[in-house]
Amino acid sequence: MIDLANPTQIKALLARHGFHFSKALGQNFLVNPSVCPRMASQCGAEEAAGVLEIGPGIGVLTAELSRHAKKVVALELDSRLLPVLTETLADRPNVTVLQADAMEVDLAALLAREFDGPVAVCANLPYYITSPLLMRLLESHLPITAVTVMVQKEAATRICAAPGSRDGGAISLAVRYYAEPHVLFAVSAGSFLPSPKVDSSVIRLDLHAAPPVTVQDEALLFRVIKAAFAQRRKTLLNALSAGLGLPKAQISAALRAVGVAENLRGERLLLEDFAHLADALAAPSIEA
Ligand code: SAM
Repeated sequence: MIDLANPTQIKALLARHGFHFSKALGQNFLVNPSVCPRMASQCGAEEAAGVLEIGPGIGVLTAELSRHAKKVVALELDSRLLPVLTETLADRPNVTVLQADAMEVDLAALLAREFDGPVAVCANLPYYITSPLLMRLLESHLPITAVTVMVQKEAATRICAAPGSRDGGAISLAVRYYAEPHVLFAVSAGSFLPSPKVDSSVIRLDLHAAPPVTVQDEALLFRVIKAAFAQRRKTLLNALSAGLGLPKAQISAALRAVGVAENLRGERLLLEDFAHLADALAAPSIEA
């Protein structure tokens, strides 16, 4: 049995398969033996119909997840890793590995085909797709209970920022619309082979049964949030006018209607404020 958290054994395994790491695919494999058991036990695998993993690499997290979940489906983009995974997961009958691009595959169809109920997602994410992949998982109205992922430490701080704090950005508000974010634990750069330049954190997003705010137009809410953060140094009035392509007088009237000062920065607003603002901008009664 290969110890999948032992760098010497991993190097021998990969050499036998003629595998070389791809930086472009974000291939930094976990070699700290305490991390995968913690992720697997905290991702909600037991309560879900199964676990969807993205980017299994050589299967170190996959093997751990298979001890907690009824079924694990792992999507790996790099076809060179499939023979490696066949070898390392040979004794895991509840694991299915599929070669797929997590950004392209039809996740709704895949989950419906592979699982008989809502799933937990757990992954050591390739960092080049962190934000778009998280938004894809959250926005697509998929049967997902929680998303537990390893991300760069700075991304974890931004995604899980307290409402109205300086660390926040458009992604923190977008995430809060769909889920309650938690930072679970920190992971040092030395926990990976090869070591990346930055430290990481494991976060868990517990998906809401219903959004915490209701708006007339969801797409407009996200456009308003994006515009408010696109030029962080600008006041809300200027950022929203530029980002939404609307006259300042109209923005000013909407801000007045919801009681938000026009010289504030977007980071000071809560999700509720953005929801009110989006509704005010959607309302035909707001005149310039
Ligand atoms: N889970 C393993 C671990 O913890 O050691 C590997 C994690 S490594 C950071 C990211 C993995 O995601 C790599 O195996 C990489 O090939 C895979 N990957 C990269 N882009 C992907 C994509 N678009 N869809 C699915 N897998 C992807």
